[in-house]
Amino acid sequence: MLDFIKSTIYEFLSNFVPQRMSYKITGKCKKCGKCCNYMYSKDTYTEKEFKIMQMIFPKYKRFYIKGKDELGNLIFACKLVTPEGLCSDYKHRLRMCKNYPAKRIFYPGKLHEGCGYTVETKKFEDFL
Ligand code: SF4
Ligand code: SF4
Repeated sequence: MLDFIKSTIYEFLSNFVPQRMSYKITGKCKKCGKCCNYMYSKDTYTEKEFKIMQMIFPKYKRFYIKGKDELGNLIFACKLVTPEGLCSDYKHRLRMCKNYPAKRIFYPGKLHEGCGYTVETKKFEDFL
């Protein structure tokens, strides 16, 4: 429970913290909709936590639990994605949607198979 409270606080604070870790993102969206239909959360591990998260952050009500992977991690999807893989409320999509794929991705950064973007880890020399 303590972890969950910490995660909730971090989630709130993340709205004000600039992205620090940087990956090089290249490519272009192919509008396949995979990222709206299949996503993980870095801090919501149970259905109960997800409900609490939705109460605290109503913007997450657009998401639902689609299932679990082989390790028991929750898989989420968005109710607003159309069968064609497009956003039905593009104008009001969340900041996380606008920023996807975010430059700050937890190691190891990974995108959906077939995604039009590529994530390249920056080397030490790239920062020199
Ligand atoms: S998975 Fe990649 S290509 Fe497909 S909609 Fe998302 S960003 Fe675009
Ligand atoms: S709000 Fe739109 S862009 Fe964001 S996850 Fe849902 S369908 Fe995708």
